[in-house]
Amino acid sequence: MKKIFLIVFSFVLIFSCAKKKNAEPEPDPFIYKHGSLQKGETLANALKNKEINNGEVYTLVNKLNSIFNLRKSHPADSFLVKLDTTGVVRELQYFPDNIHTYRVIRDTSGDFFTKIDTLKLTKVIKRCDGVIESSLYQAMINQGEGAALPVMFSQIFQWDIDFFIDPQKGDEFHLVYEQYVHDGKFVKYGDILVAQYKSGNYDNIAYRYKNKKGFVKYYNEKGESFQKAFLKSPLNYKRITSYFGNRFHPIRKKPIFHNGVDYAAAYGTPVEAVADGTVVHVGWKGGHPTVNGRKGGYGKTVIIRHANGYKTLYGHLSGYGKGIRVGTKVKQHRIIGYVGSTGLSTGNHLHYTIYHHGKPINPLRLKNVAGPPVPKTEMEKFKTIVDSLNNLLTNFQVTNE
Ligand SMILES: [Zn+2]
Repeated sequence: MKKIFLIVFSFVLIFSCAKKKNAEPEPDPFIYKHGSLQKGETLANALKNKEINNGEVYTLVNKLNSIFNLRKSHPADSFLVKLDTTGVVRELQYFPDNIHTYRVIRDTSGDFFTKIDTLKLTKVIKRCDGVIESSLYQAMINQGEGAALPVMFSQIFQWDIDFFIDPQKGDEFHLVYEQYVHDGKFVKYGDILVAQYKSGNYDNIAYRYKNKKGFVKYYNEKGESFQKAFLKSPLNYKRITSYFGNRFHPIRKKPIFHNGVDYAAAYGTPVEAVADGTVVHVGWKGGHPTVNGRKGGYGKTVIIRHANGYKTLYGHLSGYGKGIRVGTKVKQHRIIGYVGSTGLSTGNHLHYTIYHHGKPINPLRLKNVAGPPVPKTEMEKFKTIVDSLNNLLTNFQVTNE
């Protein structure tokens, strides 16, 4: 009972202080220290930097770790320490997201107990429609959306559309999605339920469907998967500096055949495996081209073997992804290395080749293999979901307050 009173009392104090900023200041019996984790900093270090007593830090961190795994903490996670005027910690609050507050509270006998506060969230359905002027990102931001929404949207279409180069002025997008709110205020995005992208001769609608095994994926009206075996590109790049085919080589100063695509990108940009596979080469690689026996070529290189006779090569890397060795099984999107300029290269870029049965093919013309469709046994259920999602997409209007 006393505990509850104390907590309620202290909250009343916090609120009354916040509200009466301009009025007669009331003495607050507590001292508050706010902070957030810096890159590479542990909570223990952050607390010590706030001059919290070493012994207290140890207890607080241990207690907190029993309700929140601090290995999952991120830079920018924030915290609040409440101390009394003698410098004794009364409470630690930890905020790793905008939904939970993890609390370590000192009771009247001086022992600590823990508590988790969870915001009550309400799921609401929203829609967003727009036309691209410069980029999808900008078009959605202009509609008042957060940066996460264009990312979620582009992930659905990533196998069909390369949102760095493909979008044209006038392309249209329409989507209906979930949003979580607290007290009417945005907290986070839920899932996109249905999404449409129209561009030139491309017009497709992606329907969210959760299969019997509980996996959520996006399919077209026929139940075919949007997910493809290969990504459109292995990195977020600035521009393509060299296409597949014959070109004038800037270092060799004569036309040679370019067996891949060169993507200019900042030094250290992560490079992802374009498809599931097994790493078959990690290390320096010559070739492409070796000038007068000069060593160089692709420099630091990773090669991955995929299903159906495909291999992909990633060259000129500055370094390799964590745990990437010959024999490593990688999933699509695994970071296999970082952009650099090793080997025979004029600047930071990725050289990327796809081989099919040993022969280089143009990555930009790859006929992509789709992931598994909706199982036949679930098609009836899928069709009813498509109908209701189509209804949402055409008829749903948000009644904005
Ligand atoms: Zn190249």
